[in-house]
Amino acid sequence: MKILNIRTKKFSWYKTDHEFANVIDIKSAEDYYEAIKYAQSKNLRCYTLGNGSNTYFRKKKISTVILRNCLPDFIRPAGEDLFEVSSSTNVPKLLRYLYSEGREGPFNLASVPATVGGAVAMNAGGGKTEGIFISRYLKSVSYLCNGERIEAKVSELEMGFRKSLFSERRDCIIISATFLFPQKEFISNPVTERLDWAREHQDLKIPNCGSVWRAFCFPLLRLAESLFRTSPAYFSKKSLIWISNKSSDHRHILKILRVVRFFHLVTLRKCEHEIRIVD
Ligand SMILES: Cc1cc2nc3c(=O)[nH]c(=O)nc-3n(C[C@H](O)[C@H](O)[C@H](O)COP(=O)(O)OP(=O)(O)OC[C@H]3O[C@@H](n4cnc5c(N)ncnc54)[C@H](O)[C@@H]3O)c2cc1C
Repeated sequence: MKILNIRTKKFSWYKTDHEFANVIDIKSAEDYYEAIKYAQSKNLRCYTLGNGSNTYFRKKKISTVILRNCLPDFIRPAGEDLFEVSSSTNVPKLLRYLYSEGREGPFNLASVPATVGGAVAMNAGGGKTEGIFISRYLKSVSYLCNGERIEAKVSELEMGFRKSLFSERRDCIIISATFLFPQKEFISNPVTERLDWAREHQDLKIPNCGSVWRAFCFPLLRLAESLFRTSPAYFSKKSLIWISNKSSDHRHILKILRVVRFFHLVTLRKCEHEIRIVD
């Protein structure tokens, strides 16, 4: 196991620049077990990183042990409409495969730059009212936690709105997920349809991590928005719950997060981040 010291803007889709003191590439279960032992010996936290499309780094120097998902990529039919998919497989790649095989799936995620592991951990999907989440197709997950390999049914994974036991714990790593994708006949291509929709309704050209908050008060976001119109990090014009970021300095985003939290605190409103914040 190698412990890498890396300076990069590539670990978060906000494209902010950080120095990572403890990056470990997880290519096998053994790498994971060794990484956990290393973190425990140094009294450091761990964070499993997929594509970083929902990850915000709050400091310039990151000491958390980054468990970078480098597990082998695969999609394996497992009979009776079941498919075992590696956690490192990209969600858009999986959806293109499902369409080509005439299979139903969470096509509303075709514009989401996630790994399957990240999408399961965040229970990725539509808005609260749309109700199509990856958990709808998920049957079970194989994952590593501390010294153990665990096979768990979806009912055991504490899946909620944009969360699961993995998003809250952060130190377990999903190896693969088994989904039920029934056969379906398509009259049009749901992948290109979703991409066309996203180009029209989402700010995809400026670095962002999608929705920032999973619980918030809309008028308070609107108030905060007016304060950041000339900042390098600002509220997306297409969606008020997205932050667009033009700077490699993470502190511009931090200012927005703090102002929004303060507004919610003083008005006693609930404020919960959807993005995962890592130090
Ligand atoms: C342009 C854009 C559009 C988006 N649209 C949507 C959308 O429509 N719906 C939606 O729900 N989200 C959306 N998102 C947010 C984001 O893509 C999702 O939350 C996604 O599921 C994160 O996947 P990731 O692989 O990038 O995870 P990361 O950001 O790397 O990690 C997110 C969380 O998952 C955990 N995790 C990652 N991999 C694993 C693993 N193998 N095992 C255990 N835990 C793991 C991490 O520890 C962390 O808690 C969007 C983001 C962008 C940039």
